[in-house]
Amino acid sequence: PSNCYYAGLDLGTSGCRLMVIDGNRVVRAEARVVYPEEPSPPSPLPEVEGGKTALWWDAVQQVMAEIPETIRANLQGIAVDGTSGTILLADAEGNPTTPALMYNDARALEQARRIAAIAPRDSGAHGATSSLAKLLWLLEHYPDQAHAYALHQADWIAGKLRRGGSRTAPTPSPTCASFGFSDENNCLKLGYDPVKREWPAWVKNLVPAHLLLTVYAPGQKVGENIIHAGTTDSIAAFIATGASELGDAVTSLGSTIALKIISDKPVFAPEFGIYSHRLGDKWLAGGASNSGGAVLLQHFSRDDLQRLTPQLQPDKPMGLDYYPLSKPGERFPHADPQWQPRLTPRPVDDVQFLQAMLEGMSRIEHAGWQRLHELGAPYPRTLRTVGGGSRNPAWMQMRAKLMGVPLVPSLHDEAAFGAALLVLRANYV
Ligand code: ADP
Repeated sequence: PSNCYYAGLDLGTSGCRLMVIDGNRVVRAEARVVYPEEPSPPSPLPEVEGGKTALWWDAVQQVMAEIPETIRANLQGIAVDGTSGTILLADAEGNPTTPALMYNDARALEQARRIAAIAPRDSGAHGATSSLAKLLWLLEHYPDQAHAYALHQADWIAGKLRRGGSRTAPTPSPTCASFGFSDENNCLKLGYDPVKREWPAWVKNLVPAHLLLTVYAPGQKVGENIIHAGTTDSIAAFIATGASELGDAVTSLGSTIALKIISDKPVFAPEFGIYSHRLGDKWLAGGASNSGGAVLLQHFSRDDLQRLTPQLQPDKPMGLDYYPLSKPGERFPHADPQWQPRLTPRPVDDVQFLQAMLEGMSRIEHAGWQRLHELGAPYPRTLRTVGGGSRNPAWMQMRAKLMGVPLVPSLHDEAAFGAALLVLRANYV
């Protein structure tokens, strides 16, 4: 129906965006709020009151209020995506009892060591930035609070919406709990097993039973009102590109080179930093190289890149065997902490130097797709590109030739659009 709308709400690293699409995937409304700049680095023990969570909720209410009433009244569903690994504890009403530890917060080192000793090697809960390590840290540092829920950023926002705390929100549902549910993507870093679709025993031994979230499939309708289970911001951004079939692949050419592909089976190879998210009956497998745009910026200014790009000659390869890295050490597609950067011989001409670096990065990407394939994922059938590097046509040309697959345009580059697509698909399945 033409007056049915589907909403995606993205809580990203710099702000919050709401996108509303119709049944034809056309954007019908959109609003964005940028968070105020962080005044100082996070303190060792941040305040609970008025912390990040208040900022998020203010931003959500603002973007919701900007959507025209005619559209809001016909929303069929809404899903929230948030930064992966961001977690907080809350009381029975959903009020935070701890600060939120952000996605990149790495204070939970000691907790990560304890997890490493008992978690299976391919668990998503490894590392100090995992939500499980942070949850243990929070429990130890706020022992006296009445914690009722452990919630990722997306879980908390979805719970608030479900509760109907916003003047624009859906009907409150007093019969079912607002908080305490999550999705299979956010829960990966909390130790959830996406293959068996359960909390493993070793997690149950670490986390009090009442804090273990009820886990839904991303996009699945949760209860009676319009809230659907969400996902993480990077998965929402992947979905936004339009990739949806087996073998659809997306390369993110940002500071690093990150590869993701839709696979019929999960691929876990911790030595390569490869893990998989469940996406309905398929899997999203991926890995990331340390090479990428950050290395380019060590040698060229943004202006240089813009000026030199039109002079590149993608059909005349330099053939230098570069491996651009800022420092030794690589994980994917080669797992070797001593892996050496190769950026010599240095041509006198800057255009040639840039071209050789882009050729090197294209080869790294190619090796990445081959590595994922060797480990059980399909080789790309279609390839979409996102990130700053996607604005370089010569690089796209080099890549298309080397990869041997059609480079197709992305539908959209906003995670909020991907979250809205999740809702749309759930309504048609
Ligand atoms: P991130 O969000 O990962 O920091 P972005 O997606 O914003 O990165 O992309 C920024 C990157 O794009 C920079 O590291 C820069 O090197 C790269 N970039 C910008 N312009 C070009 C260009 N013309 N050719 C290749 N890379 C470029």
